[in-house]
Amino acid sequence: METMETHAFDVLVLGSGGAGLRAAVEAASEGGVSVAIVGKSLLGKAHTVMAEGGAAASIGNVDAPDSWQTHFYDTMKSGHYINNYRTVEVFAKEAPARVLELEQWGAVFDRTPEGRIMQRAFGGHSFRRLAHIGDRTGMELLRTLQYKAISMDIKVFQEVTITRLLMDGSRVAGAMGYYRADGHFILLKAKAIVLATGGWGKVYKVTSNSWESTGDGAAMAYRIGADLKDMEMVQFHPTGMVWPPGVAGLLVTEGVRGEGGLLYNSEKERFMKRYDPERQELSTRDVVARSIFKEVQAGRGTPHGGAWLDISHKKADFIKQKLPGMYEQILTLGDIDITKQPFEVAPTCHYQMGGVQAHAETCATTVPGLFAAGEVACGLHGANRLGGNSLADILVFGRRAGIAARDYATSLKKAPEIDDTQVEAEVARILEPFNRPDGENPYAIHQELQEAMSTHAAIVRSEDDLKVGLNKILSLKERAKRMGIKGGRVYNPGWHAVFDVENMLLLSELIVRGALERKESRGGHWRSDYPDELPEMGKWNFVHQYSEDGDRITRVPVPEMPPELAEICARPVAPGREKVAGSSQVPPRKE
Ligand code: FAD
Repeated sequence: METMETHAFDVLVLGSGGAGLRAAVEAASEGGVSVAIVGKSLLGKAHTVMAEGGAAASIGNVDAPDSWQTHFYDTMKSGHYINNYRTVEVFAKEAPARVLELEQWGAVFDRTPEGRIMQRAFGGHSFRRLAHIGDRTGMELLRTLQYKAISMDIKVFQEVTITRLLMDGSRVAGAMGYYRADGHFILLKAKAIVLATGGWGKVYKVTSNSWESTGDGAAMAYRIGADLKDMEMVQFHPTGMVWPPGVAGLLVTEGVRGEGGLLYNSEKERFMKRYDPERQELSTRDVVARSIFKEVQAGRGTPHGGAWLDISHKKADFIKQKLPGMYEQILTLGDIDITKQPFEVAPTCHYQMGGVQAHAETCATTVPGLFAAGEVACGLHGANRLGGNSLADILVFGRRAGIAARDYATSLKKAPEIDDTQVEAEVARILEPFNRPDGENPYAIHQELQEAMSTHAAIVRSEDDLKVGLNKILSLKERAKRMGIKGGRVYNPGWHAVFDVENMLLLSELIVRGALERKESRGGHWRSDYPDELPEMGKWNFVHQYSEDGDRITRVPVPEMPPELAEICARPVAPGREKVAGSSQVPPRKE
């Protein structure tokens, strides 16, 4: 048997992005509970670091009439009402406290002239709501949480890939994986596990997501019996870079439109006025992404198949101060000075609304001892996520998952046990690709998967196309059983790719199966053969369960809102907006 580095903790947090760090900080906050956090990359480098525009919270520093009710209204509306209302309620009520707390912990937010946290406009938000740090909000959020975490008694494992969740009967008991640098194995026993492993944008060819976003956590949870929900709901952000090809898909933050950027087609028309006359460029992402797609299809696209985004009518100093990262990124990578000229943008895969079903208050999954928070979890965003709601999500539910995991761990009279056979089986599985040095190349399979998903299950979908896509995925899954690796375990990225690809194949299959099942268009899910949103379909969430015979999809009723929340959603305009209807000017907060 291989040498196995082994540790035991009360709470094990998988993922060192914003959700994972926030969970670990909370789990460790009262002392007496041992906590560890594991990440595939270095601490401070997780995908969250890329977040740009801000965290949404109804603090009302800039627009006084904002309230949790308005944030609730906007989030439900943007999610096309298949969100879990209770998750949204908890979120909208708690987001302000989480942002203010981050400020107390040292996050250096942009400021209003009065010295309060500055908030900016973003698509689909009724008020200027995004607390931000220029266009580097994720980096500052992560820095703040990281400093908090390292000042506490939290053990950190960096550059470790977890490949399997281990069980004691039906409850979770630990996780196994290996160090990416030298391939030595690690076994982490735990009473409770928080899954905070992020999304799986890497299943698509054009994506804003980091290399880590291969869906490992969701796939591992599914394999041990956790329910996954609404997997067909994938967000395509309208403004990814288009040119040069090497950086295609890299995100251009919605902050550019939030700060006044305008979209034009090749005929110099501000086409968003036709698709959403009221909100125009600040419409929700699903609407803007589809509108760009339609303009390109109608022959009004830019030379490289997108739309023009222009903020050059604003003063150069303003742009450089508000959007320093964007200014630099587009200048360096695209050789374009955005203070002087427009640039091309097109939709890019950005976020997964679907994921591991998590309880609205505790983040508990359907597997005892396993909690899920952040992008890996499902419930908050429904059919379309509002910009800024993810950074707030990871703070609110990261904290809640930390509390619930701590409580669960301390309630156990006896630690769960892991039998050796599970560990031995996983060691054998992880090493198996080395037995096939001439086997299938994982990179080639990944590339073919991305082609299949981008061609058959991306921004626009149809039954015929999805079926072709599904067949391709199933045949890739067969080939993937023969994936092989040359060389040894030290610094072998091809070996890492094997596990990434297995996870992405599984999640791609679930996306396509869910997309076939949802015979309507709703939010991020646009079916050309069912172009309308159907009230009947809006009553259901689709839950995926693992079975020996393959994926089993069950329709589960969307939870019904209590009358006081239903009343908020039934309003013709968002709460607070009626006072300023027809005006983009909102009165500033009174002293
Ligand atoms: P992540 O930050 O993705 O962290 C996942 C963690 O899990 C990582 O540490 C990773 O290493 C680890 N992990 C994964 N698999 C394994 C494994 N097998 N073993 C061990 N560790 C593993 N949202 C907003 O609200 N506002 C914004 O302005 C905004 N801007 C964005 C800009 C860009 C370019 C992108 C890509 C996203 C943006 N988002 C924004 C979305 C937001 O950043 C993410 O949804 C959010 O950061 C996800 O956080 P998380 O903690 O759930 O996961």
